[in-house]
Amino acid sequence: MDRRTRMCPPKRNNFSGWGLFETLLAIALSAIITSVVAMGARQALDSANAHDCSKNLGLIEAAKDEFTRDNPGIPLVNESQLAAYLKYGLPSCPSGGRYDHLLDLTQKTTCSVGLNTNKANYHALAP
Ligand SMILES: [Zn+2]
Repeated sequence: MDRRTRMCPPKRNNFSGWGLFETLLAIALSAIITSVVAMGARQALDSANAHDCSKNLGLIEAAKDEFTRDNPGIPLVNESQLAAYLKYGLPSCPSGGRYDHLLDLTQKTTCSVGLNTNKANYHALAP
């Protein structure tokens, strides 16, 4: 009889893969992690869109000021008059909001997305 075989009995492989509990736990953990990452990415995108919208509103107000200086006492009647003062044309809200008071020289332009929120600078002109 071989001496080595007797000294080291063959190893038994007791590992039979993941059971049902481990598999369900892994699926639940990956679902939780995925939802947290997706929520963070969505908030970051929303914040970036709100910032871009604020910049757009500032550009529109600057164009309205320039129009008023060039044409004192004359009201804006269409958007092409305002677009002439904007290098890339009339901007639009990246979140799909609508700009109100665009042609009103006495009121500031507002975005329809930022009207009903309490967040600072959210689709609104920076103070
Ligand atoms: Zn907006």
